[in-house]
This record gives sequence, structure tokens and C-alpha cells, in this order.
Amino acid sequence: MNHNALDLSIVVPCYNEEHSLRELYERLSAVLQSIAREYELIFIDDGSTDYSLDILQDLHQNDSRVKIIHFRKNFGKAQALSQGFKHSRGKTIVTIDADLQDFPEEIPNLLAWMEEGFDLVSGWKRRREDPFGKRIASRIFNFFTSWFTGVKIHDFNCGLKAYRREVTEEMDLYGELYRFIPALALWKGFRAGEVVVKHGPRRYGKSKYGIERLIRGFFDLLTVIMLTKYTQKPLHFFGSMGILLSFMGFCIDAYLAIVWFSGAYIGNRPLLMLGTLLIILGIQFVFFGLLGELIVFSSKKDNDHIVKDKYGIE
Ligand code: UDP
Ligand code: MG
Repeated sequence: MNHNALDLSIVVPCYNEEHSLRELYERLSAVLQSIAREYELIFIDDGSTDYSLDILQDLHQNDSRVKIIHFRKNFGKAQALSQGFKHSRGKTIVTIDADLQDFPEEIPNLLAWMEEGFDLVSGWKRRREDPFGKRIASRIFNFFTSWFTGVKIHDFNCGLKAYRREVTEEMDLYGELYRFIPALALWKGFRAGEVVVKHGPRRYGKSKYGIERLIRGFFDLLTVIMLTKYTQKPLHFFGSMGILLSFMGFCIDAYLAIVWFSGAYIGNRPLLMLGTLLIILGIQFVFFGLLGELIVFSSKKDNDHIVKDKYGIE
């Protein structure tokens, strides 16, 4: 993939952005030519149903630096970024939204920060030009994400980010995990920074996301916590929860045992049911953890044995 590396790849996920693409292309080209680097522009058409693809094809015909990845249908931004990363050749990779809400003119600033030794620099839309409900949802999301992941970043959801190639090569994106790239990168030992960037209102088309994204976001947050903290040791997570539950159940039942020895009848106490349930639940959690360990263990093995023959491969 990375045979003759370029300085810079710009990765742009687009889903029905026909009105923004030409202006975006022109502004990106102007900025990139001014910093005189060898670059490519990779547009991922994420199953658009408008004229986005035609416009991109036209740009590609006139400028070989424009490349297009066309999806069969709409697969979402995570898949778009993932394919963009996979096919990019730049030593540095910049992602930017196609809707002109991110300013291409901020790219040199991001790159300047990369030179300071960061592996990833994320934009921070301090003044965000979005509807009120969305800004609040995003505040809540950012607060919890920062709290739970321990990543001190204000804005996880900025489309404008710069990465060193090593970072994108490590990212396995699916669902909406792209919003956690800084957390995942930090967990893998990369250095992440944040710079304030300008943000504009959406001028054309409509946003593909609403507040419902907040709910999905929390599930993704759970996934990320699991991935970053417990992938290697699921038993630590399930095991400690299991022991805690069993211990609570044990205390309840021990108390009831004392009551029983002192002569009272406990057969009709709801607490008995609770205590016993907690013990059983706790034991099951420990077994979930052990199953998790089995999965981690077996997925670690390489499965070279499935290859019967190779031709032309060392
Ligand atoms: N996008 C995409 N696939 C999707 C949804 C969005 O490629 O399924 C692109 C979209 O074209 C835009 C970027 O992801 O370039 C961010 O989307 P949007 O502007 O709708 O999100 P918002 O800025 O409202 O959070
Ligand atoms: Mg947008």
C-alpha cells in the first residue's frame, strides 16, 4: 500500500454533499499548494444518492491527485474513514468533513502541531456552529467520554484531525468508533494533542446525525472502555463484578442465617431470594470472564494453517 509514500493524504468522507464538494476541492487545493507538499485527496463516496459521485469523477478527471472510493451503499462514516486510511499513501493523514463545516484553512495549523512531535492532533470546535440540542448532546458526550477514558480532550467528534500514518494503520474502525480514535490511539501509546479550530454552520444539505447519536454513543463508550481497559484481561472486569455481587449475596444470606439460628422463620423473606440470586449471578459473571479469557486466548493464535499454498509470496 505504502510503496511510494507521499507527504500528505487528505481523507474526506462524503454522503450526499453535492453542493459542497467543488468549493471544498478548491479550498483544499489552494491551502495544500501554499504549503507545497506532495499530496493526494481521497474522497469516499459513502453511497450518496445525489450527484456527489459525478462531481467527484469530474474532479478526478481534471486532477490525478483526486482519488475516489465509491461505496456500494451507505455504510457510515467509520467505514468511510477506515477505507480512506487503508488506501492512503501519505506519511501524514488528515481527515476533514465534506460539508465545509471544517475549514481547510486550518490544516497548516494542525500540521504545525504535528511537527511538534504529536502522533495525532485533533481539532477542537470551541465555538460550534450547530443547533442548540446537538451542542448540548455533544457536551454531555464529550464530558463522559473524557471522564471514563481519561483522555483530556474537549471535542472527540471533530471531523478535522491529523494523524501520523502509524496511528491510522493501528485503527480498526467499525460502528461509530471513529469518535474514539483519540482514546484508542492514546491507549496504544500514541501522543495526542488538541488545537482550537474554526467551525462553520452547515450551508448545504442536511446533517446525517441527530441527538439519537448520543444514545448510540454511550454504547460505543462502553465498548471502548472494554476495549481499552479489559481486552487483554476480561476476567479482571467480569471477575471483580462477579466477586462483588457474590459477596453482597453472601452477606445478605449470612445475615439471614443468623436470624434463622436465633429461631425466626426466614422462608418467606424476599431478602433470601435476593441474596441467593446475587450469589448465583456473581458466579456466572466469573464464568463470563473465563469465557472472555478463552476468546482472547484463541484469537491470539495466528491461523496460518488455513493457507494450503502460496504462489508468488515469500
Ligand atoms: N458522512 C458519511 N457517511 C454517513 C454520514 C456522514 O460519510 O453515513 C460524512 C458526511 O458527508 C460529512 C461527515 O461525515 O462529511 C460528517 O457528517 P455530518 O456533517 O452529517 O455530521 P455533523 O457535522 O452534523 O456531526
Ligand atoms: Mg457536519
